[in-house]
Amino acid sequence: MINYLYQEQNWQSQLSDLIIDPFELLDQLDISSEQLLSGAILASDTFKLRVPRAFVNKMQKADPFDPLLLQVLPHHLELEDHPEFVTDPLGEEEANQLPGVLHKYQSRFLLTLTGACAVHCRYCFRRHFPYQENLPKNNDWPQIQNYIQQHPLINEVILSGGDPLTLTNHKLKIWIERLESLPQVKILRIHSRVPIVIPNRIDEELLSLLENSRLRIIMVVHSNHAAELDDFTCNQLHKLSLRNVTVFNQAVLLKGVNDSAQTLIELSQRLFDARVMPYYLHVLDKVKGAQHFDLESSKVDSLYKEVLAGLPGYLVPKLVREIAGEKNKTPLFGKLTF
Ligand SMILES: *Cc1c(COP(=O)(O)O)cnc(C)c1O
Ligand code: SF4
Repeated sequence: MINYLYQEQNWQSQLSDLIIDPFELLDQLDISSEQLLSGAILASDTFKLRVPRAFVNKMQKADPFDPLLLQVLPHHLELEDHPEFVTDPLGEEEANQLPGVLHKYQSRFLLTLTGACAVHCRYCFRRHFPYQENLPKNNDWPQIQNYIQQHPLINEVILSGGDPLTLTNHKLKIWIERLESLPQVKILRIHSRVPIVIPNRIDEELLSLLENSRLRIIMVVHSNHAAELDDFTCNQLHKLSLRNVTVFNQAVLLKGVNDSAQTLIELSQRLFDARVMPYYLHVLDKVKGAQHFDLESSKVDSLYKEVLAGLPGYLVPKLVREIAGEKNKTPLFGKLTF
């Protein structure tokens, strides 16, 4: 992998050359496939392995417990049933108003333009979501426009997914121009993990598209571990803020991946190097198949206290849980004992 110069390959060819075979992944990492139980292959049948080579390149070789690998490698425990872990923990199917529109919060809503992601994160709460039935078609815009106009409190649109940065710049441009045509829309937010897993996605065309928009642009990237943020990735992220994009990070607290205060502290510090501000630290959504990433709440409490003690306030992400039907993300720190 030393020879693989992902920095030099354009993002679209990287996106069409993902690793989808668990044996190839392990082979690249010099991990013997006996360590991969057959259950893992079965788990991969329902939610396929999918990972860009640029992300694999940041993993440590010969380490079956590498924190980046654990996020993407199917695991036999995903097949175990657990009564609290369900397919739609956030009630998103309920909140779905129009194709592509998920309006749960007053001033902003999610617009899902694609169901595709560059990487499949095993803990993802959307792993069971019926995307394909729910994508807007080109001629659905008048309907969406109408929906926005009928909800005058909406001033922000969040492109989510799937991952909106798997779309071409051309397609993004079309949607940005549509949103710009509505004076009530002031802010465009893009939620994406692509800049972390394929940093070359931050190309000049995208930067200039964002920089020249009338909308205030926020990008919320998703990185869970400082090892995801090598120098090249940090450089690419920095380009966003140099072009007037406000960049935040959301992370998910994952057992075995980032469940130590030191790891979380390093993540925040590294994000700051890339001019990215830590935003949310989510506790795991109780999604079927992700139970092995779950941490006991007492552990979460003590971890977060250590993070608070170890960082300046501006680098501490808000610890939150998403509760179905609530009007906002629920902060958890207030729930701790004083
Ligand atoms: C988290 C979330 C948002 C955005 O919430 P903020 O608290 O504004 O970051 C919007 N829609 C959905 C469905 C969400 O889960
Ligand atoms: S990139 Fe985001 S939406 Fe896609 S699988 Fe990962 S966590 Fe889920």
